[in-house]
Order: sequence, then C-alpha cells, then structure tokens
Amino acid sequence: MRKVLIGDNAEQADLEPDEELLFGATPVRATRFEIDSAYQGQEGLSMLEESIAEGHPYAMAFVDVRMPPGWDGVETIARLWQVAPDLQVVICTAYSDYSWTDIQRHLGHPDNLLILKKPFDNIEVTQLAYALTQKWHLSRQSSARMEDLDRMVSCRTRELQRAEEAFRVVFEASPIAITLSDMEGRYLEVNRACEDMFGVAKERIVGTDPVGLGWLENSEELNELSKRLASFGCVDAQEIAYTHPTSGRRTGLLWLREVTIHHSPHILSFLLDITDRKQMEDELQRARTGAEAAAKAKSEFLANMSHEIRTPLNGVIGLSTLLDEENMPDDNRSMVRLIRASGETLAKILDDVLDFSKIECGKLELEQAPFSLRESLEWGVDLFRMKATEKHLELRLSVDSGIPARLTGDATRIRQILANLISNAIKFTEEGSIEVNAGLAREGAPDGKCRVRVGVRDTGIGIPPDKLDRIFQSFGQVDASTSRRFGGTGLGLVICRRLVEMMDGSIAVESRPGDGSVFEFDFVAGIPSATEAMPAPAHDSELARMRILVAEDNPVNQIVIERMLQRLGCSADLVSNGIDVLRQVQASHYDLVLMDVQMPGIDGQEASRRIRSLSPVHSRIPIVALTASATVEDRGACVAAGMNDYLSKPLALDALRKVLEHWGPSRGAAGTDRERLAVASSSPPMIAD
Ligand code: ADP
Repeated sequence: MRKVLIGDNAEQADLEPDEELLFGATPVRATRFEIDSAYQGQEGLSMLEESIAEGHPYAMAFVDVRMPPGWDGVETIARLWQVAPDLQVVICTAYSDYSWTDIQRHLGHPDNLLILKKPFDNIEVTQLAYALTQKWHLSRQSSARMEDLDRMVSCRTRELQRAEEAFRVVFEASPIAITLSDMEGRYLEVNRACEDMFGVAKERIVGTDPVGLGWLENSEELNELSKRLASFGCVDAQEIAYTHPTSGRRTGLLWLREVTIHHSPHILSFLLDITDRKQMEDELQRARTGAEAAAKAKSEFLANMSHEIRTPLNGVIGLSTLLDEENMPDDNRSMVRLIRASGETLAKILDDVLDFSKIECGKLELEQAPFSLRESLEWGVDLFRMKATEKHLELRLSVDSGIPARLTGDATRIRQILANLISNAIKFTEEGSIEVNAGLAREGAPDGKCRVRVGVRDTGIGIPPDKLDRIFQSFGQVDASTSRRFGGTGLGLVICRRLVEMMDGSIAVESRPGDGSVFEFDFVAGIPSATEAMPAPAHDSELARMRILVAEDNPVNQIVIERMLQRLGCSADLVSNGIDVLRQVQASHYDLVLMDVQMPGIDGQEASRRIRSLSPVHSRIPIVALTASATVEDRGACVAAGMNDYLSKPLALDALRKVLEHWGPSRGAAGTDRERLAVASSSPPMIAD
C-alpha cells in the first residue's frame, strides 16, 4: 500500500525541475500522502484518537478484513467511526472473508465506505486514495462552513430576539395608546396603554373595530377617518371624543399612519389622552373670559366715575375761573382761587388714575401729528410760572437750536410728562431754581426720525439713593409722609415712564438729598414732511363772528360753556337734548355745534348721525363732542358718528379757543382727519398739582 501510494514520489519530485527544463512540460504535481500503518484494530483506533487530539486527523483508512487476533476489519471500522464518523474507509477483502451482504449487515450503507477486492489493482488504490481524501477534505470544508452558518444564524436570531424584546418593552411601556389594525379598522395588536385608556382587555379588543367596541359613536366617524387616511396617507393630531367604561366621555388626540407589513397595508394609530389638559384649558379660558369681563366692568366703571366726577368738576373749575375775573374783595378772591386749585388738583388725580388704568390694560394709544417742541416746552414753563414765582423760585428754559422746528408725535403726552416733572420740581423745591433744557440725544434714532432729550433740574430736597428705584413704580413715593406733606398719588412718574417707553425712549433720575434732582427723558419723534402743515391759529376777530349751538343737559355746565363762549366773543344758543339740536340746526345758521355726548333721549352721537344725513346745507356743519370720559374708544365712536373733534371735560378755556380757531368760519366745514388730530393733540391736559 505504502509502495503504491508513495512509491518513488520523492525521487520523482526531485526530477521535476529537470523535466521541466528539458521538455518544457509542466509536470502534474502528485498529492503527497502521509501514511501510517497499524498491525491490528486496537492500535489503529488509538492512532486515530491521537491524531484527532493533535488536531491532525486521518482522512481515510484502508482496513484489511483479516487481521492478527483482536478485532477483525469490520469490527475495527465500526470502532473507528465511533471516534471519527467522517473517516473515509476502504475495506480490503478477499471474497472468501465476508460476503458483501454480511458487511452491509454490520456496517450499514454509509457513503464513506468502499470495498476493495483483493488482489489490488494499483491504479484503483491510488484513485481511491485521491478521491476519498478529496471527498474528506470537501466534506470537512462544507461542514466547517455549515458550522459558520449555524453560528451566524444563531447570532442573528439572538439579535432579532433582543430587538423584538426591546420593541415589546417600548411598545408596552408607551404612555400613548398604540394599535395596529387591518384596513377595515379591526385591531390586530394593541399595547397596555390602550387597554388602560379604554378599560378593556386586549383579548376583547383584538379582532374588533372601534365602532364595535363602542369607542366611536358610529361607523360614519370611522369612515371619515379612513377617507382622510386614504387621501393624505396620514391623520395628524385629530381631536376625538371616546368613551371610558368608568370615567365616561374623554378627549384624545389621534394620529393615524398607513404602513406596509408583509406586503399588505395596515393602519398604525397613536392616541394620547388630553382630557385633563383640555379641562385645564377650558378652565383657563373661563378664567380669562371672567377676567376680561372684570377688566371691562372695571374700565366701564372708571369711565362712568370719570363722567360723574368730571361733570360737576367742570362746573367748579369753569365757574371759579369766571368768578376770578369778576370784581370782589381780596379774601373772597383767594377763596375762589382755592376752590379752583382744589378742583384742578382733583381733575389731575382723576386724569392720573384714568391714564394709569388705560396704560395697565394696554389701551392707551399715542397720536402722531405735527407739533412744535419749543412751543410745548414754553407752554409747560408758562403753566407753572405763576406757581414758581409764588415760591420765589427761578424757572428757566433753554432749547438747543439743533432741534427741528417741527416734529411729529403726541404733543399732548409730551406736555403731560413735562408738566409732571416741572410740577414735581416746584413741589419739592423750597429755594433756588428749576431749569428745563432740551436738545438732541446722543443715541441715534431710525431714519427720518430724531431722538430728543429733555431735562428738568431742581435745587430741591433731593431723593435718597436707595429710594431712586421706587419712585418709578406704581404708587411709589419716597416715604409715606411725602403724600401727607406734598400731596400726590405716586402715579405721575410711573405714567411718565410708561409714556416715554411707548415713544421708544427712557426716563432716568440723578439726585442727592439736599442738593436737588435732575430728571431726564428722551423719546423718538418723527420729522414731518413739508406737506404736513401745522394748523395756523385764527384771529380773535374771526371767533367773534362765530355762532355756536351748544347741546348740554347739565345746567351748571350750560352756564360754564356759555360764559366761556361769551369770553371768546362768540354768540351761543343753548339746547339740552338731541331733538332740539336737530331742530335748531335746520331752523338757523350756525358755524359749529358743541355737542355733549351723554344726553337724555337722543344722545350726542345719534344726533350727529342724524345731522350728517340731512340735506348738504345743514349736514356739513362742524360738530365738536363734549365728553367727560375721553377714552380712545369713545373718541373713535364720536368720529364714527360723524363728529369732527372732541373736547374733554372739565373744559379749559384755552382748549375751547383752539378748537374754535381750528373749525372757525375761515376753515369751512371740511376738515381732514390729520387736522383734527393736530388740534386734539394741541389741547393742553389739565395739570394743576
Ligand atoms: P406724586 O404724585 O407723589 O408726586 P410721582 O410719581 O410724580 O408721584 O412722584 C413719586 C415720588 O417721587 C414723589 O412722591 C417724591 O417722593 C419723589 N419725587 C418726584 N420728583 C421729585 C423731585 N423733583 N424731588 C424730590 N423728590 C421727587
């Protein structure tokens, strides 16, 4: 066997290079076999075991049937296969040893057993050795590959199991109800949140649709959702109502997605319970509506109070102003002046409270009209000149020439801020001076606008450093004794701060106790184009020619207005209700109607609407509202009713003059809105603190 399989292979191998050189033929390389032999079966088995242990196992065995005492060939083969089932075996036998049937009976029909009959044919032996060792190699390789595959499959299976487990955990732990259903809406899979949300066990849910479970009221709702899903491929955050067996009707947000699983479409749904959130939103909404109603009631109350207080106040201030010009003993005059000053103080407090409440509810709106800052500053200083003189204080004004002659903005509010600061400066200064100065601020302003800076310096009592912050807060006074000593509500500066902030500016104070204070504010104002003309004042002679119809139901106010008009040289007719206004306007010629807004029967707005619908001869007359509330809304309503302008009560002589000058005969009846606003903003607020 050894001779046949190895033969002269070694010598042949040495000659191969020479053969290649001489004949140029590529030699066929023969497989080299390693061959061991054993004399009998037991020895063969132990050699096989050893080879396996060394990791170098035998590929095949030629086993003679007849062997020295011990196992015969058939027995040996059976033992060898127990150790190495893939060992390729050739059983060498003479016909007389065992019949083929006997061998088969003992060893079965394995595919790794061949019979070699004696005497051997050398080629057959060599071929068997080649073929069987090759077969052994191939089967080893394929079984190694199979093992690899098995390993990969089990590894992948483990990964899939882990992924499946993770998905399950997420699916079940989700606080959002998740369901998978077929295209008819029947549930195939649901998570725990879904069971909890509907209070129904999974077994009852699976196989049924939401209508069958009573979650949706009817199949129309389900059809509607299916239709939307078919059209858009998804449904997003749809609010739906569903029923829970114990807690009743609940609200949820539903998301639907069409997904493909195993090549067929399915519906994936997510449902989030928003019942509590919804309830909270409803409660908030109710609270908000309530708060809005309360705020509305508050501002209506304020408007009413304002009206109720301003009407008699109009009488007090108006009559005391007129009385002051009559001849009377000095002590009577000083009493009259006290009455007037008290009335004006009350009017100022009323203005502050109203302004503050308007600012608080964001209802205060600023006007934009051309004005002269220099005139406004002079007005402010003139207003307090007398008071300053009474206290022997010097009151100076200096205006930088760089400020444009005309600006656009809310002159009324700028005057209000200025008046507040000058009034405080006089109030808190016992000796020395008050200086008002204005110029352009260093910080810039948007294109076409400028930033103006105004300062009010006094040599008064000053403010301690730790109180500086407090004075710009609502009702903030340096100490409680301030209001007792000097009066005031503590609202003036907070109103100033809010007003300058609305004008894109700011207000600040520098002060040292005993040395005095400097209040400085800045604001952004527009620079009007050449076409935005300022109204030119009319001459008194023009006013003197005016015939005015006054509609006012309050007898004291009738007297005040009549006397004021007389003072301006106008002639006036008085009526006390809307019907009489309409009759008078048609019966006689007037240059203007001063119309109280609140009158019994037909009120001022209704009367104005009716005048505007008369024939052109009568309907074009200017109408000026006399209003005690003067809120932006009320003014808007007056304009909407066809009125041209408004005057707020208590009526100031100067404001009345300006309105008459504007709407006087030289202007005619057709004033533009811009002119109207210009006049409105030039009316000074009542300041007398
Ligand atoms: P009030 O109506 O009380 O004057 P303000 O808001 O105008 O309300 O002022 C708040 C407080 O700031 C005043 O009460 C006073 O204590 C202080 N204050 C304001 N201006 C001056 C000033 N020029 N000098 C000293 N203290 C001032």
